[in-house]
Amino acid sequence: MIRDLSVRYGETVALRGVDLEVASGEIVAVIGPSGCGKSSLLRAIAGLEPLASGSVALGGRDLAGVATHERDLGLMFQDHALFPHLSVADNVGFGLRMHKKNQDKAGRTARVAELLQLVGLEELGGRGIDALSGGEAQRVALARALAPRPGLLMLDEPLGSLDQLLRQQLVVELRSMFAELEVTALHVTHDQGEAFALADRVVVLRDGEVQQVGRPAELWQRPASVFVARFLGHPNVWAIGGQPVGSEAGVNQADGSKGIDDSALLVPISAISARPADGERGSNLSAADLDRLVIVQQVRFIEGRFRVTASSEGSTLCQMNVGPVTVVLDMVDEPQVGSRLLVKVDHRQVVAF
Ligand code: ADP
Repeated sequence: MIRDLSVRYGETVALRGVDLEVASGEIVAVIGPSGCGKSSLLRAIAGLEPLASGSVALGGRDLAGVATHERDLGLMFQDHALFPHLSVADNVGFGLRMHKKNQDKAGRTARVAELLQLVGLEELGGRGIDALSGGEAQRVALARALAPRPGLLMLDEPLGSLDQLLRQQLVVELRSMFAELEVTALHVTHDQGEAFALADRVVVLRDGEVQQVGRPAELWQRPASVFVARFLGHPNVWAIGGQPVGSEAGVNQADGSKGIDDSALLVPISAISARPADGERGSNLSAADLDRLVIVQQVRFIEGRFRVTASSEGSTLCQMNVGPVTVVLDMVDEPQVGSRLLVKVDHRQVVAF
């Protein structure tokens, strides 16, 4: 649907040769750090930004020269952009009036009621916009965007202004609502957690270029680069300080091949298990264990587990020479700061770059 898309602002290249296909009924999230071109992508699709190159098509129709309001798009932004002087119902109905296909008034009223019910605001149709909570305003913005049954719903940091609990709740609601309505959506966010929770596929953008496209689990388990791994929030990405040691050096390359000829190692948190080493009698420790002794530096309690930051004493982990590194791992039982842990790494989950 998007072919070789480039957008420039004078000398600044905001997007460079972006190709992207969103299948009907699919939710695609675009993630990347601030300034990577996410908003420019949505603005280009909406026809709010001229294309330096490439094309945008929706449902087989090339959108070149088509005005924004005739592109069959639904838009939902972080700041809602609701009309403060209109009621909730009129805000939802506004999107319908803008589309030629909804000129029947009774039909519009019924559709507004249907949408308000869908987002759980059927009681609030007559209310003014300034009398809504942040979460309610967000639902109104969603209802307004969905009302005309757009061919593509575009969401720009839609939950950015909401608190964490509300975000998590809305993500779950959005996911089931989109599935039920068979919505096709492009969702832009800097928050990989939100993208992973909502999207069927995720696109990672950096400096206006696509770094990787894949299902959330693919991206998480096989990030294509150190940048993607770090952006997704993997804490254990280490430069390899030398040649691999030991006999089991065949970890998974990002491209799927086996072998190591590159310079960084990703050890997902899920690949690491640890148990206290203090109190173990020396004779119970094998040489391999000794390679993997770490010292607990910091412990935080996160979502029912202890997230442990530890420093490695030895310089070999997972048969690789990584030098002394900081290891982040999860434990069910709280370790003492300063105590020693024995770390085991499931090297099938390790990725080398
Ligand atoms: P994101 O939404 O990922 O934060 P943007 O699409 O807003 O990124 O911006 C991409 C790049 O284009 C950035 O380098 C930004 O500074 C630049 N940019 C965005 N809008 C404009 C503009 N109106 N004029 C000049 N440069 C812009």
